[in-house]
Amino acid sequence: MNQGYVHSFHTAAAADGPGVRFAIFLSGCPFRCKYCHNPDTWEMKRGTLKTVDSLLDEIKKYASFLRMAGGLTITGGEPLAQSEFAYEIFSRVKQEFSLHTALDTQGFLAGTLPDTYFEPIDLILLDIKEMNPERHRALTGKELQPTLDFALRLKRLNKKVWLRYVLVPGLTDFAEDIEALAEFIRPLSNIERVDVLPFHNMALHKWEELQFPYELKNQRSPTQEEVKKVQEFLNSAISTH
Ligand code: SF4
Repeated sequence: MNQGYVHSFHTAAAADGPGVRFAIFLSGCPFRCKYCHNPDTWEMKRGTLKTVDSLLDEIKKYASFLRMAGGLTITGGEPLAQSEFAYEIFSRVKQEFSLHTALDTQGFLAGTLPDTYFEPIDLILLDIKEMNPERHRALTGKELQPTLDFALRLKRLNKKVWLRYVLVPGLTDFAEDIEALAEFIRPLSNIERVDVLPFHNMALHKWEELQFPYELKNQRSPTQEEVKKVQEFLNSAISTH
């Protein structure tokens, strides 16, 4: 697919993989996470139709810097909602600029993609939203199992993973679920790092502009102490890798 819907791109993103990233935000996502920071990416056609060539022209301006300092990350939305378009970008960025590449995904749509799909991708930033299937469905509107299947497949492919978990008090901080996550990731030696991300209410204005009902208006953020506790617990699960 040589064109697709792009929400935006950032030329110097710092939180989406190692070093400085050129981050492309693709439109479209099958989840409806209650805490979503980018609800303006949900509808694919809200994005701008762009060609792979036009994106490569942009990336080219920074390619020699990015090769030394970081690389390219495709995020969203959910990039695998436009899997062929994302693949084309990754392949060409590898071939033409030899950049480090990262895919930020919750993996829900990965089941139908062949193993070869992941060859031009160096790192997967994998978002697990909850470990209790019921709570996952309540939080995201979709099933948990495809994400877990994808995580196990990434282990089989020995693909590097950074795991991301958004901590929301009363929604994703149940001790039994955090323990289940630790048990799940303990044997996955391809997981290099876990990032516990504190929920914050900074996307409230986006929900209001879109006139989407936002249930977390009065939701508090976790304290630094709460984040640290979960972070350290999950770090200990991967420390033996
Ligand atoms: S998967 Fe990401 S983009 Fe999609 S709804 Fe959830 S937080 Fe938002």
